[in-house]
Amino acid sequence: MKKILVLGSLNMDLVTRVHITPKVGETLLGEGLEQIPGGKGANQAVAIGKLGGQVAMLGRVGMDGFGEVLMKNLSANGVEAYLTQAVQGPPTGVALIMVNDSGDNSIVVIPGANFALNKEDLTPAMFEGCDYLLAQLETPIETIETAFAMAKAQGLYTILNPAPARTLSKQLIERTDLLVPNETEFATLTGIQPDSEAHIKEGASLLFEIGVKEIIITLGEDGACHIDTSGNLHYVKGHKVKAVDTTGAGDSFIGGLLYGMAQGEDVKKAMNRAVIVGALTVTKLGAQSSLPTLKEVEDYVG
Ligand code: ADP
Repeated sequence: MKKILVLGSLNMDLVTRVHITPKVGETLLGEGLEQIPGGKGANQAVAIGKLGGQVAMLGRVGMDGFGEVLMKNLSANGVEAYLTQAVQGPPTGVALIMVNDSGDNSIVVIPGANFALNKEDLTPAMFEGCDYLLAQLETPIETIETAFAMAKAQGLYTILNPAPARTLSKQLIERTDLLVPNETEFATLTGIQPDSEAHIKEGASLLFEIGVKEIIITLGEDGACHIDTSGNLHYVKGHKVKAVDTTGAGDSFIGGLLYGMAQGEDVKKAMNRAVIVGALTVTKLGAQSSLPTLKEVEDYVG
């Protein structure tokens, strides 16, 4: 089994329910307060760990109670935490989440210690023994750029989930082997909406010209689409489920995908399990709280 290094964010999600989202200057009562481990990096690492993959997390938390809980949570879910450290100064990343009666979210993310993962903290030794480097965009971009340069120098395969959506440097795109955007992120990167095969090919070709080797666009309940440099499209349909909360769908899809790739599966084959992992996640509330184990995936397949 190959080893995956995840460079990314760890947050404590503080979730409360409100009837309606408060207006500016308004005070309302919230119902309940849940503390759920989150952050795109940790979500993806835990998704891989829960499936039984070999995965390590490179990240930063603060020297506080939330940091301790998040570190323990990694180990409890099969994620190696030796590269995740507590730093003095900034607090552990926190997401303040309000969910209203319509199911709509309002979220404030305080990156805190996630932004203290500096490029100077990286050493080539961190990548030794790893086969894949997976990152998202919730840590400083210079750190991700430096990590991808080091990873490529050591022959790792690099995967970038460009979330939350933003434009990227040519240098980072050219060091990305597999890019996994959702539809919004694909449009932000290319200026083209992936709403038809022609548009997907047109947008993807811009990224292939810079150096990306393959792209998977996630399409929500419709599943996902793989594109290679020859312009071949391969669609994997989404699984029909009763969606309760779509938080973490993208993170769990990527976790499922990387798990399969690390077992030696072809990327397109690994997508078959990834859409199931994504679908099972949307049937439950929360991000990490809803990630399935391999047994749950196998039971679903039957
Ligand atoms: P993100 O959460 O990053 O916006 P998507 O919404 O594209 O990403 O979802 C990622 C994956 O999760 C999809 O490719 C699909 O496999 C699965 N998924 C998402 N929403 C649903 C849904 N309503 N029903 C079934 N599967 C879903």
